[in-house]
Amino acid sequence: MDKNRRSLLLKTAQGVGILAFSGLVWSSYVSKAKAAPLALRPPGARSEKEFMQLCIKCGKCTTFCPYDTLKLAKPEDSIPTGTPYFTPREIPCYMCEDVPCVPVCPTKALDSALLGDSSDLGAMDIRKAQMGVAIVDEKNCVAYWGIQCDACYRACPLIDEAIKLEYKANNRTNKHTFLLPIVDSDICTGCGKCERACITERAAIMVLPRDRVLGSVGTNYVKGWEEKDERRLENVKSQSTTKDSKGAINYLNNDEF
Ligand code: SF4
Ligand code: SF4
Ligand code: SF4
Repeated sequence: MDKNRRSLLLKTAQGVGILAFSGLVWSSYVSKAKAAPLALRPPGARSEKEFMQLCIKCGKCTTFCPYDTLKLAKPEDSIPTGTPYFTPREIPCYMCEDVPCVPVCPTKALDSALLGDSSDLGAMDIRKAQMGVAIVDEKNCVAYWGIQCDACYRACPLIDEAIKLEYKANNRTNKHTFLLPIVDSDICTGCGKCERACITERAAIMVLPRDRVLGSVGTNYVKGWEEKDERRLENVKSQSTTKDSKGAINYLNNDEF
């Protein structure tokens, strides 16, 4: 092989090697960056910050899970090594009634009080778990194409509560009905049985950490149609900082605004 050709091939090979290497590093960086904040914790887990302060990585919760749902993160998993998490597409949480993974936690990183057991009497209600929330990818859910599929709906332990089917006319065909899965985020526990059951290649319904996908209204808006929420208005007058209403109107009409 002549010298120039060999040098060209070597440079090309090095270039491909560098590209392949940087591609590998970049893709693993991106997947780590994406994966890091998306870990689903066991039922009863405190906020991620508190959980990280309290979890001593003893692994007891994983040992007591009868379904092998819970795993301890390995160094390559990109969440803090040794902390428990689960991947619903592989093994969801089966929402055990006695929630054996929680009371064994020695530090209350998993707190039975968050499942309604305020006096440690074993009166936990797994329905109160907030492991995550299911989100439907409407573009890739075949029910939104008009194909009849209710796999996620049927798999849900809280069927017709956490997930419902909404019937809607299909204007494209004019003779079929859409059966659309709709998740109620107030009730969904994030168990992931729906994600496990989804028939698409990559699940079109997936569970994500609640603080990553749910908004927060704050205190500015009141549901006037809900008595409990409306009671928040009772003391508003006494808390008002506006001295006179005319002044407030003039202030709003000021040129600066
Ligand atoms: S509730 Fe049951 S299935 Fe779910 S994580 Fe705990 S022990 Fe495992
Ligand atoms: S039992 Fe508690 S402290 Fe131990 S790994 Fe599980 S969450 Fe962490
Ligand atoms: S994660 Fe899915 S299966 Fe579990 S409660 Fe929520 S909607 Fe139902």
